[in-house]
Amino acid sequence: MSTYTLKDIALATGGKLVGDANAAVSHLLIDSRGGIPPKMSIFFAIQGAHHDGHKFIEELYHKGLRNFVAVQSALPNVKALPEANFIFVDDTLDALQSLATFHRRRFSYPVVAITGSNGKTIVKEWASQMMHGEKKVVRSPRSYNSQVGVPLSIWLMGPENDVAIFEAGISKPSEMHRLERMLLPDIGIITNIGAAHQENFNTVKDKLQEKLELFRHCSVIIYQQDQKIVDEEIRNIPTKGKQLFTWGTSETATLRILSQEEGLQTKLTLLFAAEQFDVVVPFADDASIENAMHTISLMLVLGFTADFIAERIHKLIPVAMRLEQKEGINGSTIINDSYNSDISSLTIALNLLNNQKFDKRTLILSDIFQSGKRNEELYAEVAALVKEKRINRIIGIGSAISANADKFEEVEKRFYSSTDDFLHSYHKEDFANEAILLKGSRSFQFERISRQLERQIHQTVLEINLNALIHNLNHFRSVVKPTTKMVAMVKAFSYGSGFYEIASILQYHRVDYLAVAFADEGVELREAGITMPIIVLNAEPGSFDLMINYNLEPEIYSHTALRRFSESAIKAGVTDYPIHVKLDTGMHRLGFIEMDLPLLIAHLKSDERLKVSSIFSHLAASDELVHDDFTKGQIDLFARLSSRITDELGYAINRHILNSAGIERFPEAEFDMVRLGIGLYGISAVDTSKLEVVSTLRSTIVQIKDIPANESVGYGRKGWVNEPKRTATIPIGYADGLNRKLSNGVGKILVKGQLAPIIGNICMDTCMIDVTGIDVKEGDEVTIFGQNPTITDIASWIGTIPYEILTSISRRVKRIYIQE
Ligand SMILES: *Cc1c(COP(=O)(O)O)cnc(C)c1O
Repeated sequence: MSTYTLKDIALATGGKLVGDANAAVSHLLIDSRGGIPPKMSIFFAIQGAHHDGHKFIEELYHKGLRNFVAVQSALPNVKALPEANFIFVDDTLDALQSLATFHRRRFSYPVVAITGSNGKTIVKEWASQMMHGEKKVVRSPRSYNSQVGVPLSIWLMGPENDVAIFEAGISKPSEMHRLERMLLPDIGIITNIGAAHQENFNTVKDKLQEKLELFRHCSVIIYQQDQKIVDEEIRNIPTKGKQLFTWGTSETATLRILSQEEGLQTKLTLLFAAEQFDVVVPFADDASIENAMHTISLMLVLGFTADFIAERIHKLIPVAMRLEQKEGINGSTIINDSYNSDISSLTIALNLLNNQKFDKRTLILSDIFQSGKRNEELYAEVAALVKEKRINRIIGIGSAISANADKFEEVEKRFYSSTDDFLHSYHKEDFANEAILLKGSRSFQFERISRQLERQIHQTVLEINLNALIHNLNHFRSVVKPTTKMVAMVKAFSYGSGFYEIASILQYHRVDYLAVAFADEGVELREAGITMPIIVLNAEPGSFDLMINYNLEPEIYSHTALRRFSESAIKAGVTDYPIHVKLDTGMHRLGFIEMDLPLLIAHLKSDERLKVSSIFSHLAASDELVHDDFTKGQIDLFARLSSRITDELGYAINRHILNSAGIERFPEAEFDMVRLGIGLYGISAVDTSKLEVVSTLRSTIVQIKDIPANESVGYGRKGWVNEPKRTATIPIGYADGLNRKLSNGVGKILVKGQLAPIIGNICMDTCMIDVTGIDVKEGDEVTIFGQNPTITDIASWIGTIPYEILTSISRRVKRIYIQE
């Protein structure tokens, strides 16, 4: 993590510092939304056409933020902010960019910049997928490619990386040179040149020339030679000292495609540096081949061998853009592309539509905005495209497209004024055995149409809201001292919430450590690309060698473990390897007790292979008032024993004892670090109102039954029916983690806003609920837990703890991650 003092930032931005010059900063904020800002943040009050960051300074101050970059004359009442530190500048966006420029120049590893109309994100993501484990890549989060996004991406560069890949996008002329100045890329890629954001450019050439600004100081430029206009323009710019790395079918291309065989995958035979090799790209559409070729070119420029590339490329996984493909009703397929609505992305999407194995193709298209063209001209072009791509039916939604209905000829057509208008008048039977492309501008909310046309899949999913998780993290950050470090517990599949997804967002939000229960879990995270420090709690001697290999830090809780870890450290030839010493202060599970200390200290003092990074203990009853005296005793004992060790070792060691409930109830015992577990996942022993629900377990009704009187429901005939009842069957059972103790009315499931009791015994894969008097139908959604009932409700119904409910959801239940 990069840390600068305000003095450094004032120097880098040329601003005037008023306040504490030594205050340290490691997070940049440009947005006031989203909970409590992390410690050591600085807010840049960006001024835009519709937005002025200065308005949020006061609110952020009250959330605890102290450091601001602002324009003095635009500032609200400074007297209300007595503890704030300011860097005053003339233009806050310039200042943010200057800081990025300054930061970028500290690193000498290659910076790759990607520009072009489509494919930037995919090339970036694929290149980093392919280099995984070989290079430590830093890259733009999602598609942070704008005047504000690029500086935030650059800020992520650190000394630990060895290549950076960033996107650069422009929407107005003259923006690119600012991006170039910040990025100073060594390698440039131009993916393609389409019609996106056309309205501000006179001609494609102008736009291209603007984009090529990015390559001013590059030593290598990668592009597709068959795009004639790109080739011509690049050869027009001063290319002295630059290598032009081209790919294409022509003989003069640096990387030449000799042949291309299509099926579900695409086999390419390539020629590079007089060497011929084959690769199999696991996609068949033109856009993916183009993206793959750019990725392969970059890999070659970075020195990867053809063999390595061939081995990795067929494992590429699709990048979730805003283009989704789903199974639709009546045997149809739905492609929902809400990414962008312009002619070039429409062309790409129509190509994808044509790749579907259907004879019939329908396009549902909204008005297209910001095309820079007159409507008559625009829709004439769309109509020509529809004809060229042999679309059978067009459904136009919106007033502009409807007004141009006559442009569409020789095609079945229908027009609606709005999405609602369509939804009120369409019939499900109208769509069968065809491929349907939904292409709508954002404001038309085509996801509502998509939902109607999707085949209802009867499945149970655990929905994990990552925004809520970060909200909870920030809540706990705001209650501890700003200097207190944070360990996030991701043991047991992150309390059931999933592994890599949770770990990577915690890494992104810069918690200090992750903690897992077993070495295998740590290995899984490393293999998935998590680079931050990881503590292994139940570190077994049998896995010590593996742990050192994967740079995992053990909890050491016994003399045996210490001796065995020392031996592994000798074998691996490491010194100062970080370990975490566990003391038993009353939990009586794992850890050294007072009597063990002399021998422990003697060993640690004489062993330069190991370095104690932290000393910790665990509270047995931090959430229970009746045991508070006992807890205080544990804390006192910990303070005494841990200082004996730190005094003797004589170097800085982090001390920690608090878990989630401890953080909430014993703030005086924070020491240097805390270990956040269940609170992160939205459950509090003290006050749940401060936390947001992270996990929601949902399913759907697969069948409704009317049960006559004197019949029974389910195994063992336990669900006895005295009077006629209506039941609904849900595809979730005890094998999914629905505890069987919830059978026979103990548990309830939310349907249509009402809690319906479970009737009869829960089966392995299903359960039945009593929906008598509730207006439900097959396909309706039900909630097993979430806002209501809560995980805590369910735990109390069967006399267990929320931890067990959360961690029992089996891995066969699909996890879906939501993030805005
Ligand atoms: C699981 C665990 C925690 C986290 O506990 P929560 O109650 O979930 O916050 C902290 N420390 C240790 C040693 C643990 O095993």
